Formats: sequence, structure tokens, C-alpha cells
Amino acid sequence: MLDLQLPSPVAELHDDRLCSAGVRVLLKRDDLIHPEVPGNKWRKLKYNVAPAHEAGTLLTFGGAYSNHLRATAAVGQYYGFETIGVVRGEEQLPLNPSLAYAAARGMRLTYLDRTSYRLKTSADVLDALRDEFGDFYLLPEGGSNPAAVRGCAELTAEIAEPFDAVFCAVGSGGTVAGLAAGMRQPVIGVPVLKAPLEGDIITLQQDTYGNRVGNWRLAPDYHFGGYARRTPKLDSFIADFASRHGLLLDWVYEAKMMYALFDQVRLGAVTPGTTVVALIN
Ligand SMILES: *Cc1c(COP(=O)(O)O)cnc(C)c1O
Repeated sequence: MLDLQLPSPVAELHDDRLCSAGVRVLLKRDDLIHPEVPGNKWRKLKYNVAPAHEAGTLLTFGGAYSNHLRATAAVGQYYGFETIGVVRGEEQLPLNPSLAYAAARGMRLTYLDRTSYRLKTSADVLDALRDEFGDFYLLPEGGSNPAAVRGCAELTAEIAEPFDAVFCAVGSGGTVAGLAAGMRQPVIGVPVLKAPLEGDIITLQQDTYGNRVGNWRLAPDYHFGGYARRTPKLDSFIADFASRHGLLLDWVYEAKMMYALFDQVRLGAVTPGTTVVALIN
């Protein structure tokens, strides 16, 4: 069984830039839930375990560096169901560390060229995958489906202190969709990619709850060029944050979210006297 650290810890971030703006920031350390199945990846898989187990095999999608594929492989091995990871692009050998890890956890890897990958939810592509692998429980890219949204909705009940808003990074949108459903305070989602994500989040909430729920909005100007793109400005923010706080922010997701939070504080967009929860996955 997975030995999960739940509820995940909450720790105040002491930073003079926040003090002078009169803003308190609490870090919700979901990255500490489990070393192999961090944070939202666990919350999103939690209610997918039973149907995957029942089907015997789970098939899901991801890029070559997907945290979701890694986490799914680990959960499949711990809970005893087969996992198939459909990877975007050509096979590259040797496998990179993410995919090597997934393979070591028993995940069967298969590859789709970029054109087919874009059509991965079409009946044609899914039928071809069923022909090849037999029946499976299908989990969308990023692990975001209604079961995942319900798992993420449980997060804020773990925070004992009062707070006024939550900041979180947004990839496939399942985390922000669920978080916002589980609380009354506003959630500010920071997309880490350029694509418009609002429609995906609304669809996830509609599929889960029947309509758009909660008080959420996106801060779309902090993607730093797109998914897995970085700039010297982002890198120096990460280095400075690490030297101040001893916490190395993941540059694909959490660094962009934290940069956005500090920028919003600097711009006066976060009301003095408020407490903001920053979700670290
Ligand atoms: C997957 C992931 C996210 C994005 O979550 P979504 O539910 O896909 O929006 C954020 N941070 C980290 C570290 C992740 O691995």
C-alpha cells in the first residue's frame, strides 16, 4: 500500500516582500504527499483506482516528461492493475528518466505520432488502441476526469487556518476545477501553457457537477512562452526563491505559479490583510 502523508503539511512562507505588502502566504505542501505520487497526481488518481482495478488495465496519455504517467505507473503497481502509457511522439532510446521510471513500475509504453496524438480522444484512435491492447479503463491526459475533480475538491477541507484565496498552477485543469468546487473563496489558476484552458475547466466541472461551480479565474500571462518553456527571468526567480526559502520550485509548474503570486502582490492586486494559500504539487 502507498504510505501517503495526508493531510499534507501547511507552512507559512516568511518573506519580506510579502510582509511589506501585508499579505500572508501559506504553502500547502502537496508535493510531500508521496515521493513517487506527488500531490494532485494522487488526488486525481484516488477515485480512479477502483474502476481501474475492476477493469484490470488502465490506459492513459502523456508527453515524454509527464508527471502523470510516472504517478499512474506507480499507483498501478501498488494497487495491482496494469497500466499502459500512450506517449506523444516517437520512441527515443534510451528512455528518458521519466519514462524509464514508468517502465520500471510496470507501465507498458506505446507511442503516437503528433498528428494521431492530437486525435487521441477520437473513436478511430481509441478503437485502434483497443484492437492492440484489449479492453481498458480510459483515463484522459493529465488524469483529469470527474473522479479526479472530486478528489481535488477534498483538498481545502485539510486547511485548518482561515484563508482568503488559493493560487495554483494549471496544466490540464482538473486541479483548479476541483479546488474551486470545494471552497467558497476565490481560486486563481496560473496556466503554464499558452492554450486557452477556461473551456476545458468549465467542461470538467459540467461533467462532474452539471454546471460551472465555485469562484475561479485564470491569470493567463505567466506561461513564460508555453509548456516546459523557461526564461532567464524565471530561472533567476527560482534561484532567488531557493536561496531565500530553501525550496527549489519545479520550473514547469510551481515556479510559474509562485512568480505570478509575487507579481500580483507587487502590483497591489492582492488585498493587504489577506491570507493566500499557494498550492505546491
Ligand atoms: C500535473 C501538475 C500540475 C497541473 O495540474 P492539472 O490538474 O493538470 O491542471 C501542477 N503542478 C504539478 C507539479 C503537476 O505535476
